[in-house]
Amino acid sequence: MLGADVLKVDAFLNHQVDPVLMADIGETFASLFKNAGVTKVLTLESSGIAPALMTALGLRVPLIFAKKRKSLTLKDDLWTERSFSFTKQEESEVSVSKQFLAPSDVVLIVDDFLANGQAAQAMAGIVLKAGASVAGIGIVIEKAFQPGRQLLLDAGYRVESLARIASLSESGIEFEE
Ligand code: 5GP
Repeated sequence: MLGADVLKVDAFLNHQVDPVLMADIGETFASLFKNAGVTKVLTLESSGIAPALMTALGLRVPLIFAKKRKSLTLKDDLWTERSFSFTKQEESEVSVSKQFLAPSDVVLIVDDFLANGQAAQAMAGIVLKAGASVAGIGIVIEKAFQPGRQLLLDAGYRVESLARIASLSESGIEFEE
């Protein structure tokens, strides 16, 4: 744990990556969303890429990772949304090149963590700006004591989390059923 509400998963997801776990995660998301008509998987660089890539492989669709910095040369060709970073506590801009999202796309959003829902909401905003639709949101680790899930459910999105953490404390991690 880093502070009261940040979980460090550098050993298997955010720095060193466990490929067998990533393959299992990808298969699980692919199976949960196999009937949703997904045409693309969208994540945010960089920690979402490993689980999102394996999900895209399972669904046999392309992966797009949104970039956190705007390209100075291609501003007009980007869909952009603002997002407040939970871990960095600062506003950032996330963007996707317009050429990779079409109105016919059905997009599955995948991310490593769900806290306040800002990252997922920004990605969903990009999908909607492109005129495409959101198939749902797949989260590897949801901190269920934070408001992200409710925000996304209220916005009408299907949210599937693989690990739901009820609480973090000095004595350990409690999972929800
Ligand atoms: P949200 O936008 O839902 O508030 O936060 C999700 C984003 O912040 C994720 O993309 C993830 O990178 C980062 N994040 C949120 N909580 C944690 C955490 O406890 N640990 C780590 N490593 N990243 C987190």
